[in-house]
Amino acid sequence: MLASSPRHNTAQPTVGTSARPVRRQPIRTCVACRTSGGKRGLLRVVRLPENRGVVLDATGKTSGRGAYICPTSACITIALKQKKLERSLKAEIAEETVLALQAAIQRAEGVADETATSQDSQSGECSVAKPET
Ligand SMILES: [Zn+2]
Repeated sequence: MLASSPRHNTAQPTVGTSARPVRRQPIRTCVACRTSGGKRGLLRVVRLPENRGVVLDATGKTSGRGAYICPTSACITIALKQKKLERSLKAEIAEETVLALQAAIQRAEGVADETATSQDSQSGECSVAKPET
Protein backbone atom coordinates (compact mmCIF):
# COMPACT_ATOMS: atom_id res chain seq x y z
CA MET A 1 0.00 0.00 0.00
CA LEU A 2 1.50 3.19 -1.07
CA ALA A 3 1.14 6.11 1.18
CA SER A 4 0.54 9.35 -0.49
CA SER A 5 3.78 11.14 -0.34
CA PRO A 6 3.30 14.71 0.66
CA ARG A 7 4.91 16.66 -2.06
CA HIS A 8 5.36 20.30 -1.88
CA ASN A 9 4.19 21.36 -5.20
CA THR A 10 6.39 24.33 -5.57
CA ALA A 11 6.17 24.83 -9.26
CA GLN A 12 7.17 28.37 -9.06
CA PRO A 13 9.63 29.31 -11.74
CA THR A 14 12.24 31.23 -9.93
CA VAL A 15 12.91 34.03 -12.28
CA GLY A 16 16.27 35.31 -11.30
CA THR A 17 17.31 37.21 -14.31
CA SER A 18 17.16 40.57 -12.67
CA ALA A 19 20.16 40.28 -10.41
CA ARG A 20 22.40 38.47 -12.76
CA PRO A 21 25.92 39.73 -13.10
CA VAL A 22 26.52 40.03 -16.77
CA ARG A 23 30.12 39.71 -17.63
CA ARG A 24 31.29 40.96 -20.91
CA GLN A 25 34.22 38.66 -20.97
CA PRO A 26 33.52 35.89 -23.41
CA ILE A 27 33.92 32.36 -22.25
CA ARG A 28 37.00 30.89 -23.71
CA THR A 29 36.08 27.58 -25.09
CA CYS A 30 38.22 25.24 -27.06
CA VAL A 31 36.91 25.01 -30.60
CA ALA A 32 37.62 21.31 -30.70
CA CYS A 33 36.40 19.88 -27.43
CA ARG A 34 34.22 22.73 -26.22
CA THR A 35 35.89 22.68 -22.87
CA SER A 36 36.44 25.90 -21.13
CA GLY A 37 40.05 26.01 -20.23
CA GLY A 38 39.93 28.89 -17.87
CA LYS A 39 42.33 31.71 -18.12
CA ARG A 40 45.37 29.68 -18.67
CA GLY A 41 46.01 26.93 -21.04
CA LEU A 42 44.08 27.76 -24.12
CA LEU A 43 45.93 28.96 -27.13
CA ARG A 44 44.52 31.96 -28.86
CA VAL A 45 44.29 32.10 -32.58
CA VAL A 46 43.45 35.42 -34.10
CA ARG A 47 42.17 36.38 -37.46
CA LEU A 48 43.84 39.59 -38.37
CA PRO A 49 41.77 42.36 -39.86
CA GLU A 50 41.83 43.16 -43.54
CA ASN A 51 42.29 39.57 -44.58
CA ARG A 52 45.80 39.45 -43.34
CA GLY A 53 45.45 35.90 -42.31
CA VAL A 54 45.18 33.95 -39.12
CA VAL A 55 47.98 33.87 -36.64
CA LEU A 56 48.73 32.21 -33.39
CA ASP A 57 48.53 34.88 -30.77
CA ALA A 58 51.19 34.16 -28.23
CA THR A 59 50.86 37.43 -26.41
CA GLY A 60 47.11 37.58 -26.11
CA LYS A 61 47.17 41.15 -27.24
CA THR A 62 46.64 40.82 -30.92
CA SER A 63 43.45 42.46 -31.94
CA GLY A 64 41.07 40.63 -34.15
CA ARG A 65 38.59 37.86 -34.01
CA GLY A 66 39.92 35.18 -31.77
CA ALA A 67 39.36 31.51 -31.27
CA TYR A 68 40.68 29.35 -28.52
CA ILE A 69 42.02 25.87 -28.45
CA CYS A 70 43.63 23.56 -25.96
CA PRO A 71 47.36 23.18 -26.35
CA THR A 72 47.03 19.50 -26.91
CA SER A 73 47.74 17.56 -30.03
CA ALA A 74 44.35 15.90 -29.76
CA CYS A 75 42.45 19.14 -29.89
CA ILE A 76 44.64 20.68 -32.54
CA THR A 77 44.21 17.63 -34.68
CA ILE A 78 40.46 17.74 -34.31
CA ALA A 79 40.40 21.43 -35.04
CA LEU A 80 42.50 21.08 -38.14
CA LYS A 81 40.77 18.02 -39.47
CA GLN A 82 37.31 19.33 -38.98
CA LYS A 83 38.27 22.86 -39.85
CA LYS A 84 36.97 24.12 -36.57
CA LEU A 85 39.23 27.10 -36.59
CA GLU A 86 38.30 27.99 -40.12
CA ARG A 87 34.67 27.87 -39.26
CA SER A 88 35.05 29.74 -36.07
CA LEU A 89 37.12 32.46 -37.63
CA LYS A 90 35.62 32.29 -41.07
CA ALA A 91 39.06 32.41 -42.58
CA GLU A 92 41.64 30.05 -43.90
CA ILE A 93 44.40 28.90 -41.68
CA ALA A 94 47.77 29.34 -43.27
CA GLU A 95 50.22 26.54 -43.10
CA GLU A 96 52.65 28.49 -41.03
CA THR A 97 49.95 29.07 -38.51
CA VAL A 98 49.38 25.36 -38.35
CA LEU A 99 53.08 24.87 -37.82
CA ALA A 100 53.09 27.50 -35.14
CA LEU A 101 50.24 25.74 -33.42
CA GLN A 102 52.01 22.45 -33.54
CA ALA A 103 55.15 24.01 -32.19
CA ALA A 104 53.19 25.55 -29.38
CA ILE A 105 51.71 22.20 -28.52
CA GLN A 106 55.07 20.62 -28.35
CA ARG A 107 56.21 23.30 -26.02
CA ALA A 108 53.10 22.99 -23.92
CA GLU A 109 53.19 19.27 -23.70
CA GLY A 110 56.86 19.32 -23.06
CA VAL A 111 57.45 16.33 -25.21
CA ALA A 112 58.14 16.07 -28.87
CA ASP A 113 56.94 12.55 -28.82
CA GLU A 114 53.94 12.05 -30.98
CA THR A 115 51.50 9.46 -29.90
CA ALA A 116 49.13 9.52 -32.79
CA THR A 117 47.09 6.66 -31.51
CA SER A 118 44.77 8.50 -29.22
CA GLN A 119 43.00 10.43 -31.87
CA ASP A 120 39.62 8.90 -31.81
CA SER A 121 36.48 10.93 -31.74
CA GLN A 122 36.85 11.49 -28.07
CA SER A 123 35.65 14.93 -27.49
CA GLY A 124 36.52 16.35 -24.17
CA GLU A 125 39.86 14.79 -23.76
CA CYS A 126 41.55 17.80 -22.45
CA SER A 127 43.86 17.91 -19.56
CA VAL A 128 42.05 20.69 -17.87
CA ALA A 129 40.78 18.91 -14.84
CA LYS A 130 41.93 21.09 -12.01
CA PRO A 131 39.57 23.89 -11.25
CA GLU A 132 41.95 26.20 -9.58
CA THR A 133 40.44 29.16 -8.00
ZN1 LIG B 1 40.19 21.20 -26.35
